[in-house]
Amino acid sequence: MMADKPSAAELKDYAEQADAWFKENTVRDPGFMLPLTFMEVSTDQQFDFLQEWQRKVYEAGYLGASWPKEYGGGGLHSDFQRVATRAMKNYDAPIMLNAIGNGWAGPLILDLGSEEQKQKYIKPMLSAEDIWCQGFSEPENGSDLGNAQLKAVKEGDEYVLNGSKIWTSLGDRAKYMILLARTDFDAPNKYAGLSFFLNPMKIDGITTSRIKKLTGEYGFVQTFFTDARISADCLFGGEGNGWSMAMKTLEYERGAKVKPVGGFFVKELDVMEIVELAKNSVRNGKPLLDDPVMRDKMTQYMIDIQALNLNNTRRRMPQLMQDKPMGLPLMNKLARTELIRELTEFSLAFQGTKAGYYVGDENAVDDGYWHRSYLNSFSATIGGGTSEIQRNIVAEHALGLPKTR
Ligand SMILES: Cc1cc2nc3c(=O)[nH]c(=O)nc-3n(C[C@H](O)[C@H](O)[C@H](O)COP(=O)(O)OP(=O)(O)OC[C@H]3O[C@@H](n4cnc5c(N)ncnc54)[C@H](O)[C@@H]3O)c2cc1C
Repeated sequence: MMADKPSAAELKDYAEQADAWFKENTVRDPGFMLPLTFMEVSTDQQFDFLQEWQRKVYEAGYLGASWPKEYGGGGLHSDFQRVATRAMKNYDAPIMLNAIGNGWAGPLILDLGSEEQKQKYIKPMLSAEDIWCQGFSEPENGSDLGNAQLKAVKEGDEYVLNGSKIWTSLGDRAKYMILLARTDFDAPNKYAGLSFFLNPMKIDGITTSRIKKLTGEYGFVQTFFTDARISADCLFGGEGNGWSMAMKTLEYERGAKVKPVGGFFVKELDVMEIVELAKNSVRNGKPLLDDPVMRDKMTQYMIDIQALNLNNTRRRMPQLMQDKPMGLPLMNKLARTELIRELTEFSLAFQGTKAGYYVGDENAVDDGYWHRSYLNSFSATIGGGTSEIQRNIVAEHALGLPKTR
């Protein structure tokens, strides 16, 4: 049941409390480099810090504030969560670690799970006690998700898993995985043979191998399944319904549907940070901010970001969404991730010869923050569906253009 919409006075009180809490409790610089996104948690130190941070925010009531009370949420109207998340942004609070749990597995379980599953999984997911990962991509089947080949063969009241998943973010840390596997190799089409599991990770037969990223960080793994046995109770949504469950998960992952848990899974880039960088940059003895070409570009980026933010606000106004309800969220993933990639690339243009120095070099501008942001910006244009795939989806499902295949 939806909680009552709060009055302006109630929201103002709540905002003051949230502001005070984040002012007092936010640690932005714990003395080591924090990950920019949940996809590059490399060290135990980073993991432990972020797990503890999420637990603390949850226990203070600022994460999952609008999720149902009976499963561990706060039971409040979603306006309260929006206010709390704004406070996190104001104080540049660290990211939330359990993105796959809280962002996509949790909403899916709340929507379609049994009472028992909700009781079991939701609260420890909110408190970051149970970390979740996602086993969709395979070495030969990333964009072609429907072709997933990992085998799940039913034997009595168990499934036996064999195969491999790749690019599993948080895969070596997670307790559970949302897993897409093939239960029927003779189904009439590739989609019909798939099933979806809430799969325990810490069992015999599942091993992981870390993959180093472009940035030098870690954060995802290849996951190997060798005769791993899981209880048949781990099946979610019924045998043969894996494709439908995966598509519902992707609606959350790509932002087409949201059950806002609160906080940010990815550090939000603020164009004003680039303005600051430009103010302090000099070329040929003149402030780079005075260069008309640079000014023009920066103004254009500010307009683009403002347009995206306003567009996002349209979500909350049903009258403006009527014509193409899915079009806006689908477009947003594409436009926002591509813009951030361009913007971080642009930030390097202010650094002159220093643009060659990376994290760890004493000459690097802002300790290499911009370089790292630029290299990391590619992940979001690939994860959850590449920009090319996203363009196909927008064309076919939002604009109604003819299908490519
Ligand atoms: C940082 C990061 C974290 C990730 N985390 C996870 C995770 O936790 N769990 C998980 O399961 N996966 C994860 N992924 C994997 C991600 O979902 C896949 O990389 C993505 O779906 C693309 O698949 P692929 O890498 O196999 O590329 P491919 O599918 O091989 O694509 C290669 C290129 O061909 C293009 N292409 C392919 N098919 C088409 C088409 N039909 N039309 C036009 N162009 C096409 C693609 O756009 C791309 O440019 C992560 C990826 C990254 C970068």
